[in-house]
Amino acid sequence: MNVRTRFAPSPTGSLHIGGARVALFNYLFARHHGGAFLLRIEDTDRERSTGAATQTILDGLDWLGLTRDEQTVFQSSRAARHADVAHEMLARGRAYYCYCTVEELKQMREQAAAEGRSPRYDGRWRDRDPREAPAGVKPAIRLKAPRDGETVVADLVQGTVRVANAEMDDLIILRSDGTPTYLHAVVVDDHDMAITHVIRGDDHLTNTFRQIQIYQAMGWELPLFAHTPLIHGADGAKLSKRHGAQSVTEFREQGFLPEAVCNYLLRLGWSHGDLEIVDREEAIRLFDIADVNRGPSRMDFPKLTNLNGVYIRQADDDRLTREVLHRLAHPPGLALGSIAAGRIRALMPQLKERAKTLIELADSAAFLARVVPLPMEPKAAAQLTPEARIMLREVAQELEATDFSVPALDGALRTFAERTGRKLGQVAQPLRAALTGSTVSPGIDATLAALGRDETLARIAAASA
Ligand code: GLU
Repeated sequence: MNVRTRFAPSPTGSLHIGGARVALFNYLFARHHGGAFLLRIEDTDRERSTGAATQTILDGLDWLGLTRDEQTVFQSSRAARHADVAHEMLARGRAYYCYCTVEELKQMREQAAAEGRSPRYDGRWRDRDPREAPAGVKPAIRLKAPRDGETVVADLVQGTVRVANAEMDDLIILRSDGTPTYLHAVVVDDHDMAITHVIRGDDHLTNTFRQIQIYQAMGWELPLFAHTPLIHGADGAKLSKRHGAQSVTEFREQGFLPEAVCNYLLRLGWSHGDLEIVDREEAIRLFDIADVNRGPSRMDFPKLTNLNGVYIRQADDDRLTREVLHRLAHPPGLALGSIAAGRIRALMPQLKERAKTLIELADSAAFLARVVPLPMEPKAAAQLTPEARIMLREVAQELEATDFSVPALDGALRTFAERTGRKLGQVAQPLRAALTGSTVSPGIDATLAALGRDETLARIAAASA
């Protein structure tokens, strides 16, 4: 089978983390089978859909590296086809015109509520002669849904799920204004796009029964369905603002790498033995819908943050440098020319060992881009006692005499400490304060080398004056 999957977001907001995971599953499944992964923007709700939301979704997918095949399909552009199919269903006797007025439908709902039933259309136009149609009422088209038997979904994640057809009423497929309903549009599009596997959130499972009835009315082959559980917060409640970031854009802003987010989302609700670190290639090789868990997943932010740290340590230093420069572009007081870039790049192998997010990484690199005199954290300022300042001036002379390579700097500091009867830390801590304005930084020798001779001497001079 030539596998074809699709991600079908409604562009009414940002790309939610749950949506991103559905997209990832569709992507991995298609790539695993050498098939196609398509994108359909479900913008039939013209009031709520925006171009900005569409752009955010595209940006989010690009950032996550979920590349699509073929042209993006915009559902709104297919309205004429949706209407044609509805009329074809009429011609086949599988749908009918319903002339109910808004008033009648309201009465039906109220009566159902009064009798404690769920609101359902009573089928009053199902077998009625359209010649009895009241004048001036534009009809909607309703599916003539089967009344007996049951509709069965053989779901690849949820197993076999059944609903008695008597439980379902005749849904509208084309409204009286000629616009398609959502459930109808999805079926027509999935059929025309030759989708073989519909992988989506399990909040759509109940829609699937009705959609299957539409496929059957048209005599179309059903795709396979896989309804994946939603993502909840750590407390088991529906994921919401109070749990932290929710959209892909927020994760990006908070300094997560896309490969860490993808790895995390994959592992959340899918497993392969006890494998934790799964890169894209391996994910494509291993992914199988059968391994997706049935229960809801819980978002574990500390776990994602740790995983992000792992990916930061593995990431290319040039790329991390660009990310850091981008993040440092805004605060004032930083000189972000090629000199600062060079220093950040030089120290990146050490800086990235400690950071769990790009925000932390940028914070830890900011001192390299500062201009003298540096702002001093109180703890760092406390290091710069009168004795320490005298010592720093002496140290500066020792350092100046080296070639500023890491081994030479390390040697000079050790020799100085030994000669003056100090521990290395007693030399390094005031020096670190002078060079970074803080009490934490990577190894002092690497820090000195990254700053270079002129900057080191200027910083020591400023801090020891
Ligand atoms: N547009 C729907 C949504 O954003 C998804 C429809 C589907 O996957 O069938 O929830």
